[in-house]
Amino acid sequence: MRKIRELMAEPLEPQARLDEIVRHIAQNMVAEVCSIYVLRADAVLELYATEGLNPGSVHLAQLRLGEGLVGTIAATARSLNLPEAQKHPAFTYIPGTDEEPYNAFLGVPILRAGRTLGVLDVQNRAKRVYREEEIEALETVAMVVAEMIAAGSLAGLSRPGVVLDLSRPVSFDSVALSEGIGLGHVVLHEPRVVVTNLFNEDADAEITRLEKALQFLRISIEDMLSRRDIAAEGEHRAVLEAYRMFAHDRGWVRRLEEAVRNGLTAEAAVEKVQSDMRARMMHMTDPYIRERMHDFDDLANRLLRQLMGRAEGMDSENGPKDAIIVARSMGAAELLDYRRDQLRGLVLEEGTATSHVVIVARALGLPVVGQAKGAVSMSENNDAIIIDGDDGSVHLRPPADVESVFVEKVQFRAKRQEQYRALRDVAAETRDGVAVRLLMNAGLLVDLPQLAESGATGIGLFRTELQFMVASSMPKASEQERLYAAVLDAAGSKSVTFRTLDIGGDKILPYLHQSPEENPALGYRAIRLALDRPGLMRTQLRALLKAAGGRELRVMFPMITDLAELRQARDLISREFKHLTKFGYVMPRRLKIGAMIEVPSLLFQLDELMQLVDFVSIGSNDLFQFFSAVDRGNARMAGRFDDLSPPFLTALKSILDAGTRNGVEVTLCGEMAGKPLAAMALIGLGFRSISMTPSAIGPVKAMLLELDADKLQKAMSGHIADRHRAGSLRQFLSDFADVHSIPH
Ligand code: PEP
Ligand code: MG
Repeated sequence: MRKIRELMAEPLEPQARLDEIVRHIAQNMVAEVCSIYVLRADAVLELYATEGLNPGSVHLAQLRLGEGLVGTIAATARSLNLPEAQKHPAFTYIPGTDEEPYNAFLGVPILRAGRTLGVLDVQNRAKRVYREEEIEALETVAMVVAEMIAAGSLAGLSRPGVVLDLSRPVSFDSVALSEGIGLGHVVLHEPRVVVTNLFNEDADAEITRLEKALQFLRISIEDMLSRRDIAAEGEHRAVLEAYRMFAHDRGWVRRLEEAVRNGLTAEAAVEKVQSDMRARMMHMTDPYIRERMHDFDDLANRLLRQLMGRAEGMDSENGPKDAIIVARSMGAAELLDYRRDQLRGLVLEEGTATSHVVIVARALGLPVVGQAKGAVSMSENNDAIIIDGDDGSVHLRPPADVESVFVEKVQFRAKRQEQYRALRDVAAETRDGVAVRLLMNAGLLVDLPQLAESGATGIGLFRTELQFMVASSMPKASEQERLYAAVLDAAGSKSVTFRTLDIGGDKILPYLHQSPEENPALGYRAIRLALDRPGLMRTQLRALLKAAGGRELRVMFPMITDLAELRQARDLISREFKHLTKFGYVMPRRLKIGAMIEVPSLLFQLDELMQLVDFVSIGSNDLFQFFSAVDRGNARMAGRFDDLSPPFLTALKSILDAGTRNGVEVTLCGEMAGKPLAAMALIGLGFRSISMTPSAIGPVKAMLLELDADKLQKAMSGHIADRHRAGSLRQFLSDFADVHSIPH
C-alpha cells in the first residue's frame, strides 16, 4: 500500500500510472498476470493495463459484461477467488492477449458508490488460494483505480469515441415534487460522513474537542439566523430556531460526553448517539416523524463535519454556478447552506411532497424531484444533469439532442412566463365582458411576493397549517399573529381568506401526538380535531382576530361535515371576539365567516348551510376524493375518474345555485381552478371567483381573455342536462376551446 501511495503521488501520465500499478501488484503478489479492465458505456470491458498479457492487446482486448470471469465479476459486482479457474463455468480465454494457461485467479470489482466501473485481477500458474489480506489489498487498489476513473483521468486513453460507463447518459423517472425545469451540474450533497477513527487515547482532550465543535456549531446556527435573507423569511427561521434548541439540548450533550468517557472519539460518539436516536425513532410508525429525523441527522452531520474538518455546504467559489443538488435526503437547513443564486434544482432519493425540505424548496421556486432511486450512486460531481419537475424525469449526462430539447423547453417556458407577465395588469374579463376573480392560494411568507407578481385579485385560500408543518414545534400565538399580520400587510387592499388549521390526514405535525389511523383521510382531521382541542383553535382564532385589527377578516373552516360543527366553530370565534374586545383589543372592521365544501354530506343541506355563512369555498380536491371514493394521493387512481364528468359538475352547479338563492358568495379553491380547461368549465357553469396556485393565474387568464362565457354556458348546460350522454365533458370542452382558439 505504501508503494501504491507513492505511485499516486508521482507525476506520471495516467496510462503510465496504470502500468506501474499492475506491475507492482504482480510483483508484490508474485503473480504472473495482473490486469485492469474498465467498463465502457457500450457494456464492454476493455483491457486498460496489463502485466503478463500481450502489451499490444491493451485497449484492444475486450469482453462483454457477463462474459468470462472478468465479465461475471463486473456483472455481479462480486469478487472471485478461484484456485482452479478453468473449472468455473464462466471461464474463457481472452482472445488476442496471448494468455497462457493458468490455474489460480483472483478478481475484484472496481466499485464506486455501489457502481461497477471495471475489474482488477491477478492470475497464477500455480494452484493457490489467495489470502484474505491479499483480497483486501486488491480491493483497496481497486478503490484507488475507481477514484482515477471518477476523476476522469482515464478518459481519452482509449481510441477516440470510446465513452466510459461512468459517463454514460442515464435517464430515469422519479416523482415530481416541485414544478419547473432545472438544467445544471451535479453537486453531491454528502449527508453521511464516514468515521474511521473510533477509539480515543485521552478522554479529557476529546471532551474539549467535542465542546469546541459544539460551540462552533451553535455559533454557525446563530450566524445563519442573523443572515438577512433568513431573518426575512419566517419559515426558514423557524427551522433554524429548532436547530438552535437541539444544539443546546442538555440531554444530547450529556449522552455525547458519556460516550466519549466510555472510550470513543468525539466523532464516533456523535455517530453512536445519533444511531441510537435513529434506532429509537425508527420504531415510531409516524411517517412524518421519520421524515423529521433528517433534521436531527442534519444537525449531527454538521457536528461530524465540524469535528472532521470538512467544509459546510457547497464551495461557492469553485462549485458550479448552476448546481443541482443530488442527495439521499436532506434537512431544510442544509438546503439553506447553499447559495440560492447558484441553485437550479434538487434531486432526492427519498423525499415526499410534504417533506420539510421540499416545502422550503418549493417556496424558493426550485424544481424538485424525489424518490429518485440510485441517483446518488449514478452521479458524480459536476456531471451535467437535467431535471423536469413537471413530469419527474431526470437526465444525467444528457446527450446533446436531449439537452437541446430542454434548452428549448426552458426558453419556451421563459417566453410564456413573459407573456403571462404582460397579462398581469390586464383585467380578468371574458370576451363578452364577464369579470372573473382570479385569486391565489398561499400558505407561507415566501409565497407573498407572488401576489403582486401574478396579478392575483387576492388570496382565496391561505393554508394556515403550512406554518405549523415547517416548524419543529408548535408556533406560538405571537408567531401566528405575526404571520397573519404580515400576510394582511402584504395584501394591502386585496382580500385574504384564511383557512383555520387543516391538520391530520396526510398533514401531520411531528410535535402533535396522533395515533395511527387506518383511513387518515376519513379520520381525525381538520375541524374534527380542532373542535376537540379548543385550546389550539382558540389560540389561532385569537391570533387572526388580533392580526386583522381594524381591517376585514375572512376566516373559513375546513372539512365541515355536519352543520353543528360550523355552529360550534362560529361560537368559538364570537366568544374570542367578545373576550378580546373586553380586554380592549382593536377588532376587525368586518368579520366574514365561511365554510369549505369538501364533504358530500353538505350537498344535501346547502340552503341550511348558506344561512350560517357569509361565503363558501369548494375544496374540490377533497370533495372529488369523497364524491368518487378515490384517494387523491393514489397515483394508480389518478385520471381514472374525471372531475369534468356530468355528476361532479352537477354537484358544483348545485352549490353555485344555492349560493345565488341565498345571496352567498361561492368560490372554488381546489387544483382544478388552476387548470385552464377545468377553469373554463367552471366559468361555463357560472363560477365568477376561483382560487389557484399562483403560477396558474397567467395561463388561466390567457384562456379567459379569449372565452365567450355566455356561449360556453349555453353549450355546456345542454350537454350536462342530456342524461343519456355518458362520460366526461373533457373532449367536448377541448373541442370548444380549439374551435374558438382558446389556449388551454
Ligand atoms: C381542497 O381540498 O380542495 C383544498 C383546497 O384543500 P387542501 O388541498 O389543502 O386539502
Ligand atoms: Mg381539502
